[in-house]
Amino acid sequence: MEYVIPLPPIATLPVEGTQARFPVHRIYCVGRNYAEHSREMGGDPDRESPFFFVKPADGIVSDGADFPYPAQTQDVHHEIELVVALAKGGKDIATGSALDCVYGYAVGLDMTRRDLQAAAKKQGRPWETSKGFDQSAPIGTIAPSATIGHPTSGAIWLKVNGEVRQRGDLSQLIWKNPEVIAHLSALFTLAPGDLIFTGTPAGVGSVRRGDALEGGIDGIGTLRATVV
Ligand code: MN
Repeated sequence: MEYVIPLPPIATLPVEGTQARFPVHRIYCVGRNYAEHSREMGGDPDRESPFFFVKPADGIVSDGADFPYPAQTQDVHHEIELVVALAKGGKDIATGSALDCVYGYAVGLDMTRRDLQAAAKKQGRPWETSKGFDQSAPIGTIAPSATIGHPTSGAIWLKVNGEVRQRGDLSQLIWKNPEVIAHLSALFTLAPGDLIFTGTPAGVGSVRRGDALEGGIDGIGTLRATVV
């Protein structure tokens, strides 16, 4: 095959225990999936169905790399999240077989231009500029489910300059991973290589240039990024 311009690179992630890499297709994200965070964003965790937005696959930032403070914002927030990596996809996937699609799990940061998001919400406009900006998705090494299984509990936490800012537990997820996959697959045809950010626990807040971010999920891994 010949191309009229150079073929764009495929985004990939490292995988624990192998030199082979995980190729990334799409990045989906779930909003307000922990009750405490839903309340801190003004939502009602008892009534809301899961809702979704996307980030570009080339927005991934490697573990340990710099996170460049983005333009056109005065308020960038950290959101530490469990990321699900899919080995298989499909449409209308049943909750009962959804975990068969999972390749593994990683720790991710859903970086957010909160001021642009607030303006978009107020005006009923899309979220892309607040959520899908360049380098908006730091993600760590994928832990294969063949090794770690499918964790349903475990501490999820984020420290900024050594101080704990976010802390929760995977058991607090409102929509569990199989339900998220089922809901998403009713809206989109899921595919191998898709990633799903599953939502963040309470404690989201601003980052500043020079901040050292360190997050983790017990049993899955850790993620570091420096705001520059
Ligand atoms: Mn999020």
